[in-house]
Amino acid sequence: MSAIDSKTIQRIMAAYGHLDGRDLLVALIKGELTGRIAVTSSFGAESAVLLDLVAEVDPATPVIFLDTGELFDETIAYRLELERRLGLTNVIVARPTAEELAEAAELWRVDADRCCELRKVRPLARAVRGFDALVDGRKRAHGFEREHLSTIEDGVGVLKVSPLANWSAEEIEAAFVARDLPRHPLVAQNYRSIGCWPCTSPVEAGDSPRAGRWAGKAKTECGIHTLVLGRDGSGI
Ligand code: SF4
Repeated sequence: MSAIDSKTIQRIMAAYGHLDGRDLLVALIKGELTGRIAVTSSFGAESAVLLDLVAEVDPATPVIFLDTGELFDETIAYRLELERRLGLTNVIVARPTAEELAEAAELWRVDADRCCELRKVRPLARAVRGFDALVDGRKRAHGFEREHLSTIEDGVGVLKVSPLANWSAEEIEAAFVARDLPRHPLVAQNYRSIGCWPCTSPVEAGDSPRAGRWAGKAKTECGIHTLVLGRDGSGI
């Protein structure tokens, strides 16, 4: 990680914090942060909306896809479908090392935090080195820790950008319809937020989309969005 400094982050937040959606992506990808910004995507239930906007702005934008080794087969297929459909030309697949996978085997049953660190946080930390800004699809409408999310945040050494932070579930749905975007195959089975298969469940109508992640446990986030990479660029 090249470690963007705090002063620069504050300046960018002041200059572009009032923008969202496509306007924010244009300002950062085509202007201020050209070549230094990447998208992280799970290719999950709502990912097509952000990826469609990114592809419109610049289809060569790096898109980092974390393959934990425990994803649904449907997610792997959907990633290829979306990549082709949207014309994304720079999807980077980040994976745990063989050693991390060996330690993480079945670990989700007894220590989900350690499992997420090995399968998600560490591989992502390696993949994002060299980027000053990371774009994600988080939204306030997801609730839990995301209720007070801003479109641009200081991630300590990295600018965190959430262009859809202000978007409602209705606006996301409208974008799917307006752009005729393909749906993740599991959405038809009431999966609304889709991660690793052992830790993802379908939800009831009216539930938060995130209610199906680590259902029945206190855990609500995997740690990748609170990743602190350190200003020395060492990552994890
Ligand atoms: S979501 Fe579950 S299976 Fe995936 S890394 Fe975290 S604990 Fe492991």
